[in-house]
Amino acid sequence: MKVIDYLKRSPGETIVSFEILPPLKGGSMNDIFKLLDPLMEFNPPFIDVTYHREEFIYQKKESGYYEKTAIRKRPGTVGICAAIMHHYKIEAVPHLICGGFSREETENALIDLNFLNIKNVLALRGDAMQFETKFKPEQGGHHYAVDLVKQIHSMNRGVYLDSNIENGSKTDFCIGIAGYPEKHFEAPNMEMDIQYLKEKINAGGEYIVTQMFFDNEKFFEFEQKCRAAGIHVPIIPGLKPLTRRYQLNSIPRRFFVNMPDDLVKSVNQAQSDDAVRQAGIEWCIQQSRELLDRGVPCLHYYTMGDAETTKKVVSAIA
Ligand code: FAD
Repeated sequence: MKVIDYLKRSPGETIVSFEILPPLKGGSMNDIFKLLDPLMEFNPPFIDVTYHREEFIYQKKESGYYEKTAIRKRPGTVGICAAIMHHYKIEAVPHLICGGFSREETENALIDLNFLNIKNVLALRGDAMQFETKFKPEQGGHHYAVDLVKQIHSMNRGVYLDSNIENGSKTDFCIGIAGYPEKHFEAPNMEMDIQYLKEKINAGGEYIVTQMFFDNEKFFEFEQKCRAAGIHVPIIPGLKPLTRRYQLNSIPRRFFVNMPDDLVKSVNQAQSDDAVRQAGIEWCIQQSRELLDRGVPCLHYYTMGDAETTKKVVSAIA
């Protein structure tokens, strides 16, 4: 079933979903099952699986010189999605990015997904590679997520890149896209960012999943601005409980989001690692309860490999 159908099924009812990362190379599918098993009691209709492109590392060679090598530390997104669907009989949503893919490679990846009966994708641009100052598309690849959405939408109409294909079979992907309650860091302002968001909807995006945020007001303002701009698709808030003191700095640096004063205060007042984690969990529970009261269609939790913390939050609101 498509994510959009779950979101539309019962107006006023809120579903819960989770995002997971593929294990580091060398890990096993059991690592994923161990993470997801404790979360299944919340009946998530879908699980998102992130995509990680290659990173550069410097490897020491016998000569003593270092060589720059590209490796993928977390491969396996598509295989993990297929395994989740088979094991739990729920939907899995692979993240698909522009970075590192030519259009042909994207088309081939979509054909694989279609053959695996994976009906949902989250279409993203991806970030700049390490050591690059800005995002560079692959040769023959997409510059922006909107172009990827257009390609998927074309395949949904049976249009493939190869113009010799006549009557190509139509795929039936439900396309999710990303939104930023505190603005994407590269956008000149919120209005432009929302205009580009709207282009992704016009191109075929059916729902929005947001970047994590810690101040619900930012989400409500964003939602209001989207509606005012004529964006009427479901908007799913993305949530992550803060668990370590250093995240007060690392999360804003990595995700360009603000930490509210009260959260910073309660984390700084915490006297132990456990107390910091508890403060983060309580904050996320409060956020979740308020969002539930406002009738969001879904609460989407970034697990980042930590099922126990996520479970504490969701148990408190279930
Ligand atoms: P876009 O929508 O292309 O936007 C990127 C920037 O370009 C924005 O500033 C936008 O305002 C601007 N822009 C858009 N269109 C145009 C245009 N036509 N002209 C000029 N400017 C334009 N990354 C991964 O690598 N793997 C993942 O699995 C992953 N999952 C994610 C899940 C969620 C829910 C979110 C919110 C992010 C995720 N990311 C992931 C990170 C994402 O790839 C980055 O945030 C990336 O920098 C932007 O992706 P996007 O799809 O929002 O890009």
